Amino acid sequence: MRFDTLAVHAGTSGITFDGAHPTALPLVPASSFWYESADQLDRVLGDQEPGFSYARYASPTVVAFEEAVAALEAAPAAVAFASGMAAVHAAVRHYAPHPGDVLFASQDCYGGTFTLLASTLAQEGVAVEFVDVFDLPGLGRRMTQSKPKALLLEVVSNPLEQVADLDAIAELARRHGVPLLVDSTFSTPCLIRPLSHGAACVIHSATKYLGGHGDVTGGVVACSTDEQAAGLRTWRKYAGSVLGVLEAYLSVRGIRTLPLRVARQCANAAAVAHALDGHWRIERVYYPGLASDPGHRVACQLFPKGMFGAVLAFAIRDADKHAVMRFLERLKLIRAAPTLGDCFSLVLYPVIASHRGLTPEQRAARGIHDNVVRCSAGLEDPADLIADIDQALTPQA
Ligand SMILES: *Cc1c(COP(=O)(O)O)cnc(C)c1O
Repeated sequence: MRFDTLAVHAGTSGITFDGAHPTALPLVPASSFWYESADQLDRVLGDQEPGFSYARYASPTVVAFEEAVAALEAAPAAVAFASGMAAVHAAVRHYAPHPGDVLFASQDCYGGTFTLLASTLAQEGVAVEFVDVFDLPGLGRRMTQSKPKALLLEVVSNPLEQVADLDAIAELARRHGVPLLVDSTFSTPCLIRPLSHGAACVIHSATKYLGGHGDVTGGVVACSTDEQAAGLRTWRKYAGSVLGVLEAYLSVRGIRTLPLRVARQCANAAAVAHALDGHWRIERVYYPGLASDPGHRVACQLFPKGMFGAVLAFAIRDADKHAVMRFLERLKLIRAAPTLGDCFSLVLYPVIASHRGLTPEQRAARGIHDNVVRCSAGLEDPADLIADIDQALTPQA
């Protein structure tokens, strides 16, 4: 089956009612399951027989969501988590389980990931090194020196929308025997399926595009092997970072329209990017769909024709933090909420939100200046989005 068909059909619980198959996914909130036969419960608890026993181990609605994600990522299995951060944590600990293990992560990763790795993981004894995945010779040299257990990166960086050359990085990682963990939250399975490019696993914050309606907190790891999935399930079983049943249901519901939403959101982001490129109040637009953008060539290679993602960033000319805060307040339609991927458009100011945990020096080193705003395009008419940003950029005195 093709991708759009899978999005509509993948992931069903298999639950029937006297031969009647529900067309929608049943929401099963039971926290435990019983059997007529105590021997069968014994076998299920002992993993000698498949089945549900206790919802922290597995639960039907959550399994349906995992099957849907596995289908979209062309993965043998997927494991759902309570949030994107829980998914990131589980994935990196799977590859770097011991104190002293070295983990590489892209220095351009999501702010929460950066802080998790730099603080929690460091406290757990993992030696995290932040690397520049846009400098391949340098990355290769550091792999030779440090022998990392894994490399974590994002296909599209946040907030500057740089596109990593996944094929070249995967080839380098393969030569050094380093598993590649890809956070594909921004790129979604509609733009790229990283397993087919050599990734060892794919991470999503379901809070973003998979859910897509601003009402889910969740995460998921699509695995390249069943062993990896088993390891992550064991971690989840005892870390307790399970996805809620309602969240699993809403995420499957979101996936049903994912290809439609992402296509429209990409088109809207491109329309906004082109309108702002050359606007007298805008210093620079960051969007790989612009021919002048440094990520354009790689994006054309990796993504389907004409799709460059639904997130862009822009730097407001001569704006300091105060001026950016007033710009956010003047927006009438676009909401300044700290997330992305929803059906309504959103802006985010990295300085106070995603990259708040970084020092001004760390932000500056990553090119995240005080005048940069990120915008996640929703499903509105693009003319209304452009008009809203324009009126907020050019206040009447
Ligand atoms: C939001 C996000 C996360 C964290 O996901 P949560 O669901 O908020 O825990 C991780 N990676 C990326 C790229 C994200 O955008």
